[in-house]
Amino acid sequence: MHISFHGAAREVTGSCYRLTCNGRQVLIDCGLFQGSHDLHEENSADFGFDATQIDYVVLTHAHLDHCGRLPLLIKRGFQGEIISTSATQELSAIVLRDSAHLQTEEARRSYVRPRGHRAHREALYAIEDAEQTIAAFGRSLHYGQTLDICAGIQVTAYDTGHILGSASLSFDLTEDDKKRRLVVSGDLGTGDRAMLNGPTIPPPGADAVIMETTYGDRLHRSFPATLDELYTAISQTHARGGNVVIPTFALERAQEILYYIREGIETKRLPHSLTVFLDSPMAILATEAFKNHPEAVSAAFTDLLKQGHDPLHFSGLHLTRDGSESRAINAITGGAVILAGSGMCTGGRVMHHIQHNLASDASSIIFVGYAAMGTPARRIIDGAASIHLFGEDIAVRARIYTINGFSAHADRDALLAWHHGVAAKRTFLTHGDAQVIQSFANGLPEASAEIPTLGDRFEL
Ligand SMILES: [Zn+2]
Repeated sequence: MHISFHGAAREVTGSCYRLTCNGRQVLIDCGLFQGSHDLHEENSADFGFDATQIDYVVLTHAHLDHCGRLPLLIKRGFQGEIISTSATQELSAIVLRDSAHLQTEEARRSYVRPRGHRAHREALYAIEDAEQTIAAFGRSLHYGQTLDICAGIQVTAYDTGHILGSASLSFDLTEDDKKRRLVVSGDLGTGDRAMLNGPTIPPPGADAVIMETTYGDRLHRSFPATLDELYTAISQTHARGGNVVIPTFALERAQEILYYIREGIETKRLPHSLTVFLDSPMAILATEAFKNHPEAVSAAFTDLLKQGHDPLHFSGLHLTRDGSESRAINAITGGAVILAGSGMCTGGRVMHHIQHNLASDASSIIFVGYAAMGTPARRIIDGAASIHLFGEDIAVRARIYTINGFSAHADRDALLAWHHGVAAKRTFLTHGDAQVIQSFANGLPEASAEIPTLGDRFEL
């Protein structure tokens, strides 16, 4: 009975752990390595195991850094079953199709130059691989219910409140007369958001826990203060007669912003005449997913639906699917809030909204997510006087806001409370920058936490 680490080891992305028990191999997540620089080499490297020997994959959630290498696993011969909550299954399909398109695009654009030669880089995977992955999803996990994966391996999922359908996984393992319980945290949410429930802590006393530490060294500011900042920025821009552009990730953050804009309008904290554009086909699909999964959203969210109110829709909201509808927004010079991707302004529809609003001193750009070094979003946030876009230099005259409190990750104190609740005999810390993991480990009551490196294998 073993666990080995094939990603998110002393880094924040690429989650992938392999469990061996009773002659079977179960992969827990199979995520993409992501970052500000090109990680094609890391992503295309050998997994550190034989994909054809994996019997099952169990997913914690649909973020790309947890599911984004699945089509590669399929391409390399995985023929088993993928198991997740039904919400994760629906979101993974959206995320993996989009990822396959991006991979194909990037391969078309990028060239590697070995010894002076120019050669096409092979795409990590193609849309056919993503479709095969989607077809490999089998049984669903239900929060609080135990599923027999196969002889000797059972799993129970617990809501983590991180994104729609996200789960902690508690494995009950039997091999000969040896019994072990292994808990995998997945990504843990903050517990203070209106659309989702807070994390449910698995029952105490596990033999081992593998735990994320993304924000293991810091505390978040209060969410009401974050919401105040958002409402103030939108209201002030509206009063000046400008537009608000919110570069946003299609999954979760876009829906969360929509939810709170609707609430802001209903509670008169935002102007009633606000025109809002959700300008992203992928975000529109993800928004529908929230309404398909009452089991994965908060009681407040389902109550609104039962009363006939759509929590993610209101009269001033326009969903723009076509490129022509998106370009038509360029003619609007004031009074609009535009949500579009990508969140770091590295491409996508948000680029032409930035182009049309960045030089307007009436408009605002509001950043609500992480912006990696080297991205246009980071340059704007850091105070660049101008940005080079579509062949021209555009002066930054718009008001720039960065609102950091929308993080979907638990902070240090919430992580410590969860760890205390699980009360495991042994702790493996993953999914954090090396110095963050160390800082979190130093704050644990026992000094026994293990910090695996890539490829490490432990007997359970
Ligand atoms: Zn996540």
